[in-house]
Amino acid sequence: MSKVAVVIPAAGQGTRARRDGQKSKQFEPIGGRSALERVVERFRCNPSVTLIVVAAPADDVNALRGLLPQSGVKVVAGGDSRQGSIRIALSSINAESHDRVLVHDAARPFVDDALINRAIVALDAHEAAVPVTRIADTVIEAGASGLRGETLDRDKLRAVQTPQAFRTSALISAHIAATEAGRDDFTDDGALMAWHGHEVALFDGDPRNTKLTTTQDMDAAKRHFSEKDYLACPDVRLGNGFDVHAFAEGDHVVLGGITIPHERSLSGHSDADVVLHALTDAILGALADGDIGAHFPPSDQRWKGQDSSLFLLDAVARVKARGGFIAHLDATIMCEAPKIGPHRDAMRARIAELCGLPVGRVAVKATTTEKLGFTGRREGIATMATATIRLPLSSEAFQ
Ligand code: MG
Repeated sequence: MSKVAVVIPAAGQGTRARRDGQKSKQFEPIGGRSALERVVERFRCNPSVTLIVVAAPADDVNALRGLLPQSGVKVVAGGDSRQGSIRIALSSINAESHDRVLVHDAARPFVDDALINRAIVALDAHEAAVPVTRIADTVIEAGASGLRGETLDRDKLRAVQTPQAFRTSALISAHIAATEAGRDDFTDDGALMAWHGHEVALFDGDPRNTKLTTTQDMDAAKRHFSEKDYLACPDVRLGNGFDVHAFAEGDHVVLGGITIPHERSLSGHSDADVVLHALTDAILGALADGDIGAHFPPSDQRWKGQDSSLFLLDAVARVKARGGFIAHLDATIMCEAPKIGPHRDAMRARIAELCGLPVGRVAVKATTTEKLGFTGRREGIATMATATIRLPLSSEAFQ
């Protein structure tokens, strides 16, 4: 059986779905994982696919190499155009060992095995094939001031999707020819192949295989995947964490990943972020996977002065590695000062960002201890935290 490679162009900026300051749509988290991660996972699970090449923005190549699975996935820096990115990705594929290639949009995370298999099988009889769907709505040509011309004949029209399927050597030749002809404006490989004189076959696409284009699409995808993730992870686990750091000389404290000016600092081996430490332990508690001191021994010089987000990110990765996700985090900070209220939302936003959670699933609360005990005497700050996580049911769950 011939081997199949997949090219995923993900170097575009996705401005239509981009709200100011937000990531491109393929990188924006949908229930904790981006569309690109979900697309890569879908193709990795197909037994015919043995190589996936992601063309990423040059600035994101290293981050994506860390984020995506290592085996069978290559991340390359893309070009200035979609066509350029695909040409670069194709140059890293050996057309003899991988004689079939699929090209799939990073922003189509709903692709499933049935569609992937239809694309692969289409190449048994064709050099090039693209998935299409019928158009249910009436299609018109819009002019500047409204409807222009006649209604187009719906029966002859099709919407073109991905994954598009090609004989690897034929697609490489067509890309080389387009570049030599000075064309760099193809946004669709089926169209590029047709321009190069190839017959392009059509096969059934899937109306559910939509492309995330607008913010409404993103919101619908978030609903869809969170429902699926919740059904797939019925094993609800609760963990708690507690941490204390003492005050020492200094002019600021770091709490919940936020630096707050204060007349004293917290002492500790790392940045002494008592909130992130308690949250990390709460997640590790829910996983029944040791504690922060076991994974990051204070005796290890590597963690000296370390940003505590590293510890929290490690705990989040452990949840992901078990196939689960964090459903909720809750922290209570105990101190007389500094005042937490003015910084609460900044802490929630930072913790949510680190954990890939909506901010509505992160609570930060504060209390004094009525001048009682070490926190009441202003000797230090304590935090207790709770983490709710959800895991898939596994045989281990019943032990
Ligand atoms: Mg600590």
